[in-house]
This record gives sequence, C-alpha cells and structure tokens, in this order.
Amino acid sequence: MHRVKACFDNTYTRLPEVFYARQAPTPVREPELAIFNTGLAAELGIDLSGLDEAELAAYCAGNRIPEGAQPIALAYAGHQFGNFVPTLGDGRALLMGELVDVHGRRRDLQWKGSGRTPFSRGGDGRSALGPVLREYLVSEAMYALGLPTSRALAATLTGERVFREEPLPGGVLIRVAASHVRIGTFEYFGVRGDLESLRRLTAYVIDRHDPDLADGERPALQLLAAVSRRQAGLVADWMSIGFIHGVMNTDNMSISGETIDFGPCAFMDEYDPATVYSYIDRRGRYAYGNQPAVLQWNLARLAEALLPMIHDVPEEAVAMASEVLTQVPGWYREAWLGRLRGKLGLVGAEPDDLALAEALLALMHAEQADFTNTFRALAGVAAGLAVLPTAFESWRRDWEARLARDPREGLAERLRAANPAFIPRNHQVERALEAAVREGNLTPFRRLHEVLQRPFEDQPEAAAFADPPRVDERIGHTFCGT
Ligand code: AMP
Ligand code: MG
Repeated sequence: MHRVKACFDNTYTRLPEVFYARQAPTPVREPELAIFNTGLAAELGIDLSGLDEAELAAYCAGNRIPEGAQPIALAYAGHQFGNFVPTLGDGRALLMGELVDVHGRRRDLQWKGSGRTPFSRGGDGRSALGPVLREYLVSEAMYALGLPTSRALAATLTGERVFREEPLPGGVLIRVAASHVRIGTFEYFGVRGDLESLRRLTAYVIDRHDPDLADGERPALQLLAAVSRRQAGLVADWMSIGFIHGVMNTDNMSISGETIDFGPCAFMDEYDPATVYSYIDRRGRYAYGNQPAVLQWNLARLAEALLPMIHDVPEEAVAMASEVLTQVPGWYREAWLGRLRGKLGLVGAEPDDLALAEALLALMHAEQADFTNTFRALAGVAAGLAVLPTAFESWRRDWEARLARDPREGLAERLRAANPAFIPRNHQVERALEAAVREGNLTPFRRLHEVLQRPFEDQPEAAAFADPPRVDERIGHTFCGT
C-alpha cells in the first residue's frame, strides 16, 4: 500500500492541552477529487508517487490520515459582528499538522469540512461543496494576485449531502496557511484570565512569526505592533483589488497577516465604498469602505487580550498599547498610498499623489465605473492603445502631468503589473459554483480557475471573464453557507 510521504513536525500539539482538542476526522462515504494543487504539493515537499487517484482522494477527504499527522481542533474565541463569543474553535476543521516547505517555511495543513469536533456546538462539522470550491478559487486567485493568503491544496467531493436550507453536495477543503492563530486565539485565553496560556501563546507566535522580537525589550508590545503593521498592509492589499472579506470577525483575522476564512467574500465591480454582498451583514459592518475602520477595531481587541503580557501595571500596559494603536491609521494610510501609487504607475512620491488617486476614485464612484477595469485601462492609455471615457479627460491630464515628473520608461508594464485584468467576479464565481453544485459539472469552475492563475496577463481568449456583470447577472448577496 502506498502512503503519502511528508515530514510532519507538529509544534502546536506540543502546546498545553487547553489549546486544542485531539479529534480524528469523520470519514465520508465516497471521496472524489474535484481539484488538486500539484504545484503546491510539490512546494510542500509532499511525495505522491505511486498513489492512485482513489487513494489521494481518501487522504484529501480525511478518510485516511497521512503518516505523522496529529489531527486537532484549535480553541479560539472571537468577536462576531461586534459580539463576543468566548468559545468558538474549529467546529468543522482540523489541523492535521505542520510541514516545513521546500523554502524552509512552516505551513499548517487544515482539513475543512472534516466532521464534528468538541467545538461544533449545533453544527454538523461539514461543508457544502459550493463554499469549498469558492474558497479554493478565491484563495488561489488571491495568491496569483500577489496577496498574503492561505492557499488551497485540494477540494474533494464527499458523496454525502449536507443540509443547509436544502440538501447540498458536501465537500472537504485542504487549506494551507502560515498558521491558524487568530486574534480570537488570544481572546480565548484573555477572557479566561489564563495568563500562563497567554504567555505560552505569545512566545509561540513570536517564535513562529516574529523571531526577531524574542530578545527585544517588550516582546508582546512589539508583537502587537508587528501584527498591526501586517494586517494594515493586508487590508490595504484588499482595498487595492476591490476585495471585500465579508466576515472580518476577530476569529477570522490571522496573526500571520494572511487572508483566511473566505466565507461570503466578494469582489467589487462598480466602485462604491458602501458595497457589501454578505447576506448576513445586513448593516454593512464589513462593507468595502469600512474595512480599514474594522481593522483598527479588531486590533484594539488584540491589544486588550495582550495587556497582561505587555506590562504588570495595568495602566502602564494600556498606555503602551494605546500608543501602538494610535499609529495604526498612519500605517494603513502609508500602505494604501503605496498601493495607489503603484496602481497609477507612479515611481516617485509627491505630496499630492493621494489627492490624485482619490480624485480618480471619486470619478469612478460618480460614473459608476468598474474598479478593476478602470485601473487596468490606465495601462492601455499609457501604451496609446486605449482612451478613458470623456468624464475622465480632465483627470487624465492631471495624471499625465504628474507622470511627466517620473521616468516614463516601463510605465505600461508597471501599470499592467499593478492592475489585474482578471479578478474572481461574483457572477462568474456564482456561475461556476452553480454548475458544479447543481449539475456536477466542474468544467466552468476549472476554466475560471485557470484564467485566474494569470490575472495580470491579457488573455484575449478569456476576455469575457473581464466583463462586469450585465444588469441581469448582478449578484446581490453572497452566502457563507455554513
Ligand atoms: P466561520 O463563519 O467559518 O468563521 O465560523 C465561525 C464558527 O462557527 C467557527 O467556530 C466554526 O468552526 C463554526 N462553524 C461554522 N460552520 C460549522 C459547521 N457546519 N459545523 C460546526 N461548526 C461550524
Ligand atoms: Mg472562521
């Protein structure tokens, strides 16, 4: 019998038992691979030689456990839409173990939809196929777009039905992340006043993500600053491609600074800061334009949890943490401005650059222009191959005047490299998932996935994937389907 060969080294299981629950996956009836990421498998150093498709599917569904894996469900808390829930945890996911990849980076392998755990509460521990394919598609698109993100290794059909509003085909996703420690993990121990576990968690995270801080003066304070900078950069990245996470709860914000938990996430078509798709986000808490404010709110929750680690005297700890938090808006603005400069093809930095970019955004808003395509058109304009609509004419002259003070060489290439032609447009994603879920037809999903692997390349044969939705194709709401 052949076995998946991979060198697991599971540091999280060496933490105290209060950090997790040991839990085996619940086998599924009829595993069948929908898609497997061979490139990522190679990067992870996983040896699949001699393994047939049925055996691989059995591993990917959780029916077989790779040698060296030690499945656990992680404990964490979280603020969901502003409300604190002291015990969330992995209710339908298991961390199988950690691999050190060929680049020497430690990565978590998590099976999502693998059955009930002690954290499942009323849930069935399963995932529907639609959300599994959505996460696969969007996380891999995010990777191709160059954003920090968890990756997808495999999506597997279970041959079982899950019951949401209706019976739906089930799926299991394997996702790969720098770690699965969230703001909510710190909150879990913070709310319990479990200082020893907080200390262990802080040391663990510093060792894993910020080893340079270990010998610093106040490692926990430095960690707060490091996480804040990372997440500020991440949200600036999201904003720069029109990404709306949809559930920026503190349990979905990774300490490593990667995008995780692609639930009802979506990409904006027309530029409008008030854009929100998630069906459960009726008040628009996590609307596109609110994400920087939520970032700040979430980091304040992290700071609260970390206070006892920052200083023994509570007032001192609060003062120090507040000092870090007041810098977050500046860190965010700096990151956002950097992304905008890139999108305008600017090399140097001038004081009016932000105003120039904001003027373009205001025009897009007024003209109901497509966010992605307007930026992408700048590359065409620079190459003399395209023109902007007349409403943008005066802005274009301002932009040209600003560009004249930068080196012109390579401008069109810079613009093409900063402004994708292809993003996972909601109507395309929905169409691909519908075909997979309703008809068992994975062809549209595979085609869309393929196009999104090269988002910055003009792909003439895929031009239709860059089109905004027609009125009748517009997606009003997305569901996380949990
Ligand atoms: P999410 O919305 O995916 O971030 O999940 C929020 C919380 O609900 C986490 O604790 C999940 O583990 C849990 N959860 C979501 N769906 C299920 C399910 N089908 N079964 C059990 N727990 C779930
Ligand atoms: Mg989550």
